[in-house]
Amino acid sequence: MYNPKSSEAEEFICHNEVLASLQFAEENKDNVEVVDKILKKARLKKGLTHREAAVLLDCTIPEKVQEIYQLAREIKQDYYGNRIVLFAPLYLSNYCVNGCVYCPYHFVNKHIPRIKLTQEQIRRETEALQDMGHKRIAIEAGEDPVNNPIEYILDSIKTIYSVKHKNGSIRRVNVNIAATTIENYKKLHDAGIGTYILFQETYNKETYERLHPTGPKHNYKYHTEAMDRAMQAGIDDVSLGVLFGLELYRYEFSALLMHAEHLEAAYGVGPHAISVPRIKKADDIDPSAFDNGIDDDIFAKIVACIRIAVPYTGMIISTRESAECRKRLLELGVSQISGGSKTSVGGYFNPAPEDDNSAQFDVSDRRPLDDVIKWLIELGYLPSFCTSCYRQGRTGDRFMEICKSQQIHNYCQPNAVMTLKEYLEDYASDATKAAGEKLLPFEIDKITDETIRTKVVENLNKIHNGERDFKF
Ligand code: SAM
Repeated sequence: MYNPKSSEAEEFICHNEVLASLQFAEENKDNVEVVDKILKKARLKKGLTHREAAVLLDCTIPEKVQEIYQLAREIKQDYYGNRIVLFAPLYLSNYCVNGCVYCPYHFVNKHIPRIKLTQEQIRRETEALQDMGHKRIAIEAGEDPVNNPIEYILDSIKTIYSVKHKNGSIRRVNVNIAATTIENYKKLHDAGIGTYILFQETYNKETYERLHPTGPKHNYKYHTEAMDRAMQAGIDDVSLGVLFGLELYRYEFSALLMHAEHLEAAYGVGPHAISVPRIKKADDIDPSAFDNGIDDDIFAKIVACIRIAVPYTGMIISTRESAECRKRLLELGVSQISGGSKTSVGGYFNPAPEDDNSAQFDVSDRRPLDDVIKWLIELGYLPSFCTSCYRQGRTGDRFMEICKSQQIHNYCQPNAVMTLKEYLEDYASDATKAAGEKLLPFEIDKITDETIRTKVVENLNKIHNGERDFKF
């Protein structure tokens, strides 16, 4: 039985409920009356159930599909404006004891160099990231209790937060490490992490077990209930994701939304963000070996339908995707992107040669961060390096409450403007600086509260004169 409140993986991700939702969607995808009813609810911009969203995802009526895209654009605009938050991954170690068949870090792969950064190397990577202009990173590591124990992750977080190179600082460290215990999540929480990220990879238990044949990650229940343990440990910003291409996308879509429903039902807080990675080529991994790859059109529809189903949840797209694809998805709902990413261990300080095979996967968008910033500005977006919410205690249900009432603009817009100004002063090329300085007055004008607007203008002058790190 589907029970969103249950703490049992197979009850909140209930296989039969996913199948019933897929059947309901199949039966109703071209039923104008049902689709209209769902769209009417969606227009309230408060979200949809997984079943309702599944119908929209399957719908093939051309004019309704256009309505879906239009609504996704509107919701994106209402909740996130034109702001896009930037981040970068930082790979700490590719030692891994798991056997994930889609990931080149699987332990059977004996020919990729295994690297675990020392704290000194992490300091250098952090400086390199700061010199690009990054303020928010996601640390990544394989699962290996001997080489990458929690103490190593905690030391690394401490190192990263301690580095202050020139005007740089990493102000938010998000963490993408394997499912762990409540005790370890408590330690991560105490270390001051931002979001805990864990991709489910696939929600289908049978597929999951087949694709994770060996190692601790084989345990579907332990992996699927990880976010519950994180929440119980006090981490109330968690980020979900599936690796599209492993299983039928319709299955993943419904189950992902069920996971969001579960977190909301059990803890009163939905996911802070959802990532939508697609499987990519990597060292000994050939994506075509997986039968469920999705094309760009389906991918865009998935993003639009997630945007409609969970309007208050951030959506993240990485450099796995090309600039062209990212452009399309930004419009439909993505609110956060990585830029200038390296997916190899130590890749920022020591860029790998072109023929290197040590990256976790090939990136499609290889542009430097500065190019991405300029590109965003030219597309009409406001790039943001804001890390303020969690530092000001706006996490979990506090964040969601502000977000659901669409009040988050009052914080995000000023913070985006001030952090972009920092970027322009410290890191931008002349061309990006010119484009950014031209944009700022328009973005300042959007701040409706006069007191805040005046304060922002004052702070921009202070930033110009060398002060840093203003936030609302
Ligand atoms: N070891 C941690 C775990 O098990 O969750 C950290 C994950 S790994 C460093 C980050 C993510 O990369 C994985 O969760 C997986 O979804 C993704 N990934 C692995 N292989 C990939 C590939 N070939 N293409 C695209 N993404 C991949």
